[in-house]
Amino acid sequence: MAKVILLPGEEKRVLSGHPWVYRTEVRDVQGGFEPGDVVEIEDARGRFIARGYANPASQIFIRLLTRRRDEAVGREFFRRRLETAGAYRAKVVRNTTAYRLVNAEADFLPALIVDRYGDYLVVQFLTLGMERFKELVVELLVELFTPRGIYERSDVSVREREGLEPFGGLLYGEVPQFVEIEENGVRFRVDLHTGQKTGFFLDQRENRRAVAALASGASVLDCFCYTGGFAVSAARGGAASVLAVDASGAALGLAQENAALNGVSERCTFREANCFDELRRLTDAGAHFDLVVLDPPSFTKSKEALPGAIRGYKEINLRAMKLLRAGGYLVTCSCSYHLSEGLFLEVVGAAACDSRRTLRLIELRRQSRDHPMLLSAPETYYLKCGVFQVL
Ligand code: SAH
Repeated sequence: MAKVILLPGEEKRVLSGHPWVYRTEVRDVQGGFEPGDVVEIEDARGRFIARGYANPASQIFIRLLTRRRDEAVGREFFRRRLETAGAYRAKVVRNTTAYRLVNAEADFLPALIVDRYGDYLVVQFLTLGMERFKELVVELLVELFTPRGIYERSDVSVREREGLEPFGGLLYGEVPQFVEIEENGVRFRVDLHTGQKTGFFLDQRENRRAVAALASGASVLDCFCYTGGFAVSAARGGAASVLAVDASGAALGLAQENAALNGVSERCTFREANCFDELRRLTDAGAHFDLVVLDPPSFTKSKEALPGAIRGYKEINLRAMKLLRAGGYLVTCSCSYHLSEGLFLEVVGAAACDSRRTLRLIELRRQSRDHPMLLSAPETYYLKCGVFQVL
């Protein structure tokens, strides 16, 4: 096995629990290896630090698999990791038939995503190193979780940084395009073949529950509604009316179906529009709501694009505040890792200041428990969800 020797001092971050080694931290490599191979990491004094898979094509040179010298990376290793991931979900996941079974680095299986939708699994292999273990992982998933089918949704651009083509397709058994899940007692149809992410935004499950709890009797606006996750939850929570907006016609088609599935179609209106335009239009029309949900896509995938993203977040929050009746509620999210929690609150605060509203923070929520975060790897904490009362 090739050895990767770190520059003096560069072992500190890894030793404190961070799961990556960057190219700039490496002094030299002893022995040959193919991109994607497992290598051993040593500090400058020759002490064992960890084992991980390497890809020289990526800025993230090595992703750690184990910090234990006596732990070989093979079948038993993957079986233990997957079993542990399953046991954790059995403990913390409630009220749903769909959840994230493996959350990549946070489950010590870097760049591997496994989402469970009832009897089916949807997986993503996001790096070359993990791609190499695909056959083994699929075999073990079948053995441990007995799904009826496994579908791959690695059709994402991050794979390009690894020198990999996007890929989507069946890996095992059979997987229908549409399945029905139940979350918090609400039914949703999910498109596993072509839906966004792996089909559903599982990370918002607990936040949708929080929205449902605030929705009774309210007129609700759900911006960036996708297939109606928040909208239908709010309607089922007793909302008087829900207006839900998204730019994707395909997503809205499913959202309509989901409203019907839950018997709340009469109280829901779905509108295909750009939310920035629609928020402006609603303000101009003098509309008002008791509850507004903002769940935009990540406005930035890089630090460089952060200023533009901040302007975007500020604008939608400002407009949402203007639309809220006094005493109404704003549930505002950001799934952009580069916008830290502190910065996120600053942006919402700046919007409150400009709109001359006073905000009471009720809850600061995060991604659901099946998407755990590593304290030592801030990258694993990306979803912020602020629940505010707007006075
Ligand atoms: N709240 C949803 C998930 C939202 S994901 C849920 O609970 O399931 C973000 C959504 O924003 C996607 O559906 C995407 O189609 C939509 N979107 C992205 N940019 C948009 C824009 N400018 N206007 C409206 N919708 C947009």
